[in-house]
Amino acid sequence: MFRISQYMRELAAAERDGRYPDVTDRKPRGPVVIWNLVRRCNLTCKHCYALSADHDYPNELSNAEVNTVMDDLKRFHVPVLILSGGEPLLRPDIFEIAARAKTLGFYVGLSTNGTLIDEPMADRIAAQGFDYVGISLDGLRELHDKFRRKQGAFDASLGAVRLLRARGVKIGLRYTMTDMNAADLPALMRLMHEEGVDKFYFSHLNYAGRGNIHRGRDAHFAATRDALDRLFDAAWFAACEGRALDYVSGNNDADGVYLLMWAQRKLPRWVDALRTRLEQWGGNASGLHVANIDNEGHVHPDTMWWHHDLGSVRERPFSAIWSDVSEPLMAGLKRQPRPVTGRCGACAHLAICGGNTRVRAQQVTGDPWAEDPGCYLSDAEIGLAEGAGAPRVAVTPFHQRIRVLP
Ligand code: SF4
Repeated sequence: MFRISQYMRELAAAERDGRYPDVTDRKPRGPVVIWNLVRRCNLTCKHCYALSADHDYPNELSNAEVNTVMDDLKRFHVPVLILSGGEPLLRPDIFEIAARAKTLGFYVGLSTNGTLIDEPMADRIAAQGFDYVGISLDGLRELHDKFRRKQGAFDASLGAVRLLRARGVKIGLRYTMTDMNAADLPALMRLMHEEGVDKFYFSHLNYAGRGNIHRGRDAHFAATRDALDRLFDAAWFAACEGRALDYVSGNNDADGVYLLMWAQRKLPRWVDALRTRLEQWGGNASGLHVANIDNEGHVHPDTMWWHHDLGSVRERPFSAIWSDVSEPLMAGLKRQPRPVTGRCGACAHLAICGGNTRVRAQQVTGDPWAEDPGCYLSDAEIGLAEGAGAPRVAVTPFHQRIRVLP
């Protein structure tokens, strides 16, 4: 995750004080764990990486197994659990699991589609003390309902936002941009303000699960840049006005480089300091600072790697699976810098971006260390002579869509 607002607040402080604030990121000892506790979902969204449907799935982790894993995660210094699904509220013991996680001292987030949150459910969520609830919106009413394949889904999710806000729960809107919903981004950002939502999570489309089917319809890179310009400006204004709004992005670590380019244009005197900060962040964290456990207990480098099983928590503790670098993908993901090739290997900003999203490279080329085809920066912007990169994947100059060379 790329915390746009955090850097904007630092830049605003630098402008105000005449010096860049003295901050250093301390990496947590354990990874943030996104835990898909149940695969069942009441919706069948077009972009669902879990390919969920509204029926029970066999072989999911039992409550006792979840507790055993949770104890291991605690010992392994995992700081954050994001409880997800499917729709996590369909798991009958979700509140029991959340309560235990809170008692053990985890920061506990809930990732939900929001459609099952009525007043009694909002009361339970508020009473449970979730640290954060993320609710997905793909666009305004018409588009969201189309994406979610359910009429009334938008109203139900927005209703959940209002019910939770009224109870003081910290909420974020999560939006995954494709070329089908890019036009709704400004309206969603306005909605965030109107509804008093604290956080806006902008997710780039990744090529996994049902999202993989949409590769050819992915938002093209010009629209991505427009969207980021909009997010950066909004985050900058919020930071200058001292408003505690958080804009974050995910699934494309080139965003860090793009922010540096934004600062080069708007606040050039802080570029060196910002570069240092962005290099501390280091870009992509899959397999390193972010982990995923699926509903059957299989461990993955992140939620987009469900086709790559690192091992089951039923057979080995998570801590053992996560530390095992005899597994080639994990060995590479944990290497710094990562053994990336092509444009990423030659990129002047590799220390910021970390080589971006390996699953995209793997899904498009079969090689997890190939250049990320989702990088929307030009050769010149990454320090290459124009046309020097891209040995296997080319970007068409007009719409800048990805095409794989034969
Ligand atoms: S070329 Fe690769 S490493 Fe460089 S910014 Fe793009 S995705 Fe990141």
